[in-house]
Amino acid sequence: MKPTIKIQLLMLVLFFMFAGVANFVFAQTTVQDIKLADNLIITPAGPGVYRIVHSLPWPANSLLVQVANDQFVMVDTPWDNYATQLVVEWLQREFPSAKLLVINTHFHRDCLGGNGYLVEHKIPTYGADMTVDLLDRIGHDRDENSMREFRDQGKRELADVYKASPLVAPTTTFPINQGMLLPFSGDTLEVFYPGPGHTVDNITVYFRNRKLLFGGCLLKSLGNRNIGFIGDADVLNWSASIDRLREQFPLAETVIPGHGAWGNMALLSHTQEIIAAYLQQNEKPE
Ligand SMILES: [Zn+2]
Ligand SMILES: [Zn+2]
Repeated sequence: MKPTIKIQLLMLVLFFMFAGVANFVFAQTTVQDIKLADNLIITPAGPGVYRIVHSLPWPANSLLVQVANDQFVMVDTPWDNYATQLVVEWLQREFPSAKLLVINTHFHRDCLGGNGYLVEHKIPTYGADMTVDLLDRIGHDRDENSMREFRDQGKRELADVYKASPLVAPTTTFPINQGMLLPFSGDTLEVFYPGPGHTVDNITVYFRNRKLLFGGCLLKSLGNRNIGFIGDADVLNWSASIDRLREQFPLAETVIPGHGAWGNMALLSHTQEIIAAYLQQNEKPE
């Protein structure tokens, strides 16, 4: 055998070995990926459940669930109107008679950045009264700050994308302390406010039949060890809010953080560890 043929054979063997390993490792996450744009991926994650990840600039989670034959619920929008439009148009192609309802879990852009498109197209958007209030009082300033930072970092295009997609409040509100119960034929949603944490208005959404809990930015993924942006947080009371979340939904099996990999109830104690470490490091000397 000529050396070149030997090398070619070896490469072929290595290629199949790697392909096999890659297929095994990523079987859950890439095989069925639906790529709507370079930074926008939808992945089926169980019967009637879709994971949406939009990166603008960093990845944020949205959840899409079929709760009845013709009814879908999306928890949190992608970062901007255009990505939200791509998701809605994809849904209309896949399920031509689908109706959509959207819930925003707090007032930051990674939860409601696509409301402008949704409201314009008469798609119902739900959020807590406190979310509307906070968006009104500080949300737009937060967004201005982000745009300024992007420009300072030379990321002008990113700032322009945000600017072209102004933040819009949800149109249907509920008193945050009452939460909301939304029964559909295929699942029942419980919207629950556990108390302040990442923001003072962070709400959570539980899909009872599926034992699926969207914790949003109140919870960190296991791969994340940072407390993240705490400009609007209540770090001192955050951990107690997670305790209340644990008590409210003890049967939750799948738990979704605002960013990063989905997990289970371990995300709650993991986040509490991050908060405790932060508080310890930032303890003021007596
Ligand atoms: Zn946030
Ligand atoms: Zn977030």
